[in-house]
Amino acid sequence: MIEKTIKGIWALLIGLSVTVKFFFTRPVTMKYPEEKREPYLRYRGSHILRLDEKGKEKCVACCLCATVCPAQVITIEAGEGNEHEKYPVTFEIDMGKCIFCGYCVEACPKAAIIMSQSYELAEYRREDLSYDKERLIKTGK
Ligand code: SF4
Ligand code: SF4
Repeated sequence: MIEKTIKGIWALLIGLSVTVKFFFTRPVTMKYPEEKREPYLRYRGSHILRLDEKGKEKCVACCLCATVCPAQVITIEAGEGNEHEKYPVTFEIDMGKCIFCGYCVEACPKAAIIMSQSYELAEYRREDLSYDKERLIKTGK
């Protein structure tokens, strides 16, 4: 009986020592949103539509990204410019359904679409999760 009690107290003390040890060490949690974690280098956040050095859209509306997208969340309406070049009149990504696989980035022949490291994507309204062309360009600025 006494032996069992001693074993119980010993186990309790071991447990308490672990608690006390972690009480004085640096916490693993962060005080978000005051403190923000630096994303890993290969983290895939929201998309960016890139511009070239002249400030023109790099996208040529080839729709390869929309074709490979497994979630089918990219909608592009192609148009023709003054010099018969193709460009996206509209370019939308439904971020609420995107699975952040990065296939669109891999498929793009013009490196016109990349993924940012932005992870604060929550919205109050579902329709706000649909990113249009202007918003996708602005994310990169
Ligand atoms: S990251 Fe994947 S799911 Fe999201 S838009 Fe690109 S291809 Fe589609
Ligand atoms: S982002 Fe790239 S793959 Fe998608 S339509 Fe534009 S040029 Fe084509």
